[in-house]
Amino acid sequence: MEFEWLNSKIVEESIEVVLVFNEMGNILFGNPSAREKLEYSGEELQRQNMTWIFRQEFQKEDGGYFPFQKEKIFEKTESALYRKNSSCFLANIRCFPMEKSGIYYLLAEDITGQKDTDARIRQLKEEGENNRRIRNEFNANITHELRTPVNGIKGHVTALMDVIEEEEQRKTLDVILYCCDNMSSIINNILDFSKLEAGKLTLEEKEFDFYQMMDKVIATHTATINKKELKLNVYVDEKIPRIVIGDELRLNRILNNLLSNAVKFTSVGYVNVSVSKTMQINDEVELFFMVKDSGIGISKEEQDRLFQSYSQVDASITRRFGGTGLGLAITKQLVEMMNGSVHVESEKGKGSNFSFYVKLHTNQNIDEIPEHLEVYHKWSNFTAAMENSGEDQFYQFGTEENRGEIKKRMEKLVLSIELGAWDKAETLAETLKTLIERSDGELKKLILRMGMAIRKENYEKSMEMYEQVKTALIERMGEL
Ligand code: ADP
Repeated sequence: MEFEWLNSKIVEESIEVVLVFNEMGNILFGNPSAREKLEYSGEELQRQNMTWIFRQEFQKEDGGYFPFQKEKIFEKTESALYRKNSSCFLANIRCFPMEKSGIYYLLAEDITGQKDTDARIRQLKEEGENNRRIRNEFNANITHELRTPVNGIKGHVTALMDVIEEEEQRKTLDVILYCCDNMSSIINNILDFSKLEAGKLTLEEKEFDFYQMMDKVIATHTATINKKELKLNVYVDEKIPRIVIGDELRLNRILNNLLSNAVKFTSVGYVNVSVSKTMQINDEVELFFMVKDSGIGISKEEQDRLFQSYSQVDASITRRFGGTGLGLAITKQLVEMMNGSVHVESEKGKGSNFSFYVKLHTNQNIDEIPEHLEVYHKWSNFTAAMENSGEDQFYQFGTEENRGEIKKRMEKLVLSIELGAWDKAETLAETLKTLIERSDGELKKLILRMGMAIRKENYEKSMEMYEQVKTALIERMGEL
């Protein structure tokens, strides 16, 4: 045979089937892969005709010729190739005419493995969906089951509150109630998440008192805010109608999620909550909310992952602060269901600002002119005032107030190290880091090293670094 390349190593070792045939469909050559896959010996294969191997693509016409376009390349995916014993396998084929020779060659790539992979992927996907459904049902059931005892505890503790007068005991009951509230909000988040995933969550359209709802959300967090000695600023735009129509519970949940994060991740400074009416057209009002804190902040890369489910910025944060990583994912979906969107601005070490808007309805008749220009004006005054209150009071290094804060934390810090209360010491070191913001790099470095020693729970090193930080502070601010 004059086509010497057929004996080349490439053809010889190719895993693709290579067949050469003439216009009558008679096979002139098959490479080792063709012989192996079609299960013919070399001689047997050369006595075969293409119509026997390809029973759909190649059929004899009356004149004994192929209906195959002689000048063109012929391609087909998932052709069936029949073996000697009439079983078959699937392959993608390409067929080429050789330059004016009346001879053709065909390459066939066996896709059996690929088909298996496709089937396996399909199977895994089905299994995944199935597992997700089971998990959601399980979550929904278990959370329902958990709700009853938590409400039971809450009811009994509230009843006890009425009869117990001793201050210490009342404090304990307060803590139990606080824990119950925490647990309830985790349960509610898991329940909502399962419903959202299953596409079974629908929002209510019911009248509620917007101002009362705001009061309730804020009240849930005031005890913790006070305990952490944070400053809380709340602003509610009086242009917002008192009675609005929407899903009170879910709006409460959105705010609750953002607010508990703000409180959780802030150890010094402020938490600002504000809501403003940015637009009203007929009975639709657009409300813009902002929950801003001066806490640990979130880096740019981490911000991208924030709204995904189960995403916590850092595993060590979970250990320190707890949480399920579901809050923001749910928040985003609920906000979007209310025809709005959520946005984050944050800087590591400086604080975070989560803002979102939603659209609600109202029956209250207010003039139909969009008021956003006027509101915006007022709004920017407000935000400027907020910025200043936060910055001046808590960040300006060396001011009287800042010095007082630093002194207080340093005293608590040394006590915590002495007592081996490492978690507390770590939080205090974080706080100090925020308080010395805008001071010089040397001091920052010392605090960082002290933080590292505390994290390693190394008493000697922590005390040594504490002394160094103290000396550096005295150098910069005079007597501590
Ligand atoms: P979790 O229930 O764990 O708090 P979230 O979805 O509410 O879950 O938050 C996910 C992560 O985003 C948190 O674990 C935290 O790392 C980060 N995060 C959210 N809000 C803040 C904030 N105000 N300040 C700093 N980090 C935040």
